[in-house]
Amino acid sequence: MAEGGGCKIEDVCARRGLSTLPERLVRRRRAAGDSLRDLERFFNRELLAAAMRAAGMELLDDEAANVYRLLTDDGVSDAARTEATDRLTRAGVDVQALREDFVTYGTVRTHLRECAGVDTARASEPVDAGSVTDTVFALFGRTEAVTERELSRLAETEALETGPLSVSLAARVTCESCGEEYRLLSLVERGGCACADAGRGAGESQT
Ligand SMILES: [Zn+2]
Ligand SMILES: [Zn+2]
Repeated sequence: MAEGGGCKIEDVCARRGLSTLPERLVRRRRAAGDSLRDLERFFNRELLAAAMRAAGMELLDDEAANVYRLLTDDGVSDAARTEATDRLTRAGVDVQALREDFVTYGTVRTHLRECAGVDTARASEPVDAGSVTDTVFALFGRTEAVTERELSRLAETEALETGPLSVSLAARVTCESCGEEYRLLSLVERGGCACADAGRGAGESQT
């Protein structure tokens, strides 16, 4: 797939002058662990934003995300979708061509796997407690590092006065059935909440 015409993602990016976009998909997958659905949305929004900018439309915060939702979300009324389409068309955006260039998560997966050599099997691999906690704590680690860095930047201004800072995240998980709250790691180590205890306790006496 990497040779010849390239995949749809590469074709569309080449045609629309978005040369860094295929690589940004790979980076988001590798660095942030974005799901294929996240990447589908990200890619299509970038296409939409580029088309809107090319037509001279001014993009305010989150505007591309909002217009994308109007164009594609099942919960949007026909009237709202038509209005969004008309507004784009009046500005000179070829909405039909844009829709044809939108990709599905399957196309994203093919691109990651065939063109970029990224392992996309992760989501369908069997999960175990160790791999889940590894994923979560790696994410916490990155979040802690970013939080520390941002707070340190703030501490260089007059807005925040502190000594050296260290950030630690802790997740608490609550079961909506029994209402018991656990630290993330203890719940995973425990192997279940009070609901499971009740199930186990039904046939035996609890001590
Ligand atoms: Zn590709
Ligand atoms: Zn429970």
